[in-house]
Amino acid sequence: MSIQIPTPSQIVKFLNQHVVGQDEAKKQLAVAVYTHYKKIALAEPDRVEIVKSNVLLIGPTGTGKTLLCETLSRALAVPFVTANATSLAQSEYVNEELEAILQRLIEKAGGDIEQAQRGIVFIDEIDKLKAPPEAGHAGQGQARSGGGGGVGGGERVQHALLKIMEGAPVKLKGKDGATSHIDTTNILFICGGAFVGIEEILADTHTFGFISTADDDNQKVLDRLNARVKPTDLFAFGLIPEFAGRLPIIAHVQALSRDMLVRIMTEPQNAIFKQFRSILKGEDVELKINPEVFEQIADLAMEYKVGARSLRGIFEEMLMPVLYLVPDHPEVRQVVIDSLFDNPRYIGSAMKQDQ
Ligand code: ADP
Repeated sequence: MSIQIPTPSQIVKFLNQHVVGQDEAKKQLAVAVYTHYKKIALAEPDRVEIVKSNVLLIGPTGTGKTLLCETLSRALAVPFVTANATSLAQSEYVNEELEAILQRLIEKAGGDIEQAQRGIVFIDEIDKLKAPPEAGHAGQGQARSGGGGGVGGGERVQHALLKIMEGAPVKLKGKDGATSHIDTTNILFICGGAFVGIEEILADTHTFGFISTADDDNQKVLDRLNARVKPTDLFAFGLIPEFAGRLPIIAHVQALSRDMLVRIMTEPQNAIFKQFRSILKGEDVELKINPEVFEQIADLAMEYKVGARSLRGIFEEMLMPVLYLVPDHPEVRQVVIDSLFDNPRYIGSAMKQDQ
């Protein structure tokens, strides 16, 4: 069976409809997945062995890592699941947890194992598998002694992940007790994490970069350095060499600017503004929001420091009184929000007097 693989530029075009900014990461991911699926397509008839290049996606929380991966899977029409490294590390039964993840992938593929074997698994918080401070930077060996469910767990998780990332048949137990197998060879694993402080680590290990003084130039140098993460840079985050070595493609997402936050609320195909506009349209009400309001929301979201994650909450809070009132007032034709800090204006004969 041959599948139509969109080209990297087509993939980026699709991503652009859903994800704001992150242009470098989009390109890198597009090339990575295109190459991955092309390799599979080429390997199948000739039985050439595939050397898989899994991806590490580095960047602050709430900036679109999960969204990018999920959108990628939609661009390629392959099943997609997410998992969380922290909860894997806290579990006593890592292998069972991994089996459950693969089982979910099969469910996402509508029970089609072939299809699941070409899926994408995104594992978030991969930077949280670190040893505790007292174990020190290099102490891989000591990592096992720590309590509190993180540490030994962290390394155990990496070994378990390594096995399935390298490609292995995994036995799955069905609900009815029947067993089946899934081969993980062609599953693309994308690991994500904030890797807070990686810039400093890079600065320490890449001294050649610090030759300029102007702020703008410094930023450019830093960006260039950021693009050059080596597996050894990841050791400080507790990634063991074998594991880091399995993630040869490293892409970065950037912190979201105020302008990007504004665009996230309004531009993507299912942007929050569009969603609520259509909810109110269903009540025959036009929702008008002053552009300044989006900036006010973005300012507030910047303070929360969780990327775009807080946007929906602030937006819903703002519209709550509107969504409460409108269903009882069919005469309202338009709702206007002039400022995040003012009451909404209801345009419609009776409501005008009420307000
Ligand atoms: P991460 O995985 O980086 O922590 P997510 O991808 O889960 O962040 O993003 C959280 C939410 O914020 C998503 O549901 C999405 O709606 C929104 N979001 C974050 N970044 C972007 C972006 N660059 N473009 C559009 N929406 C975004």
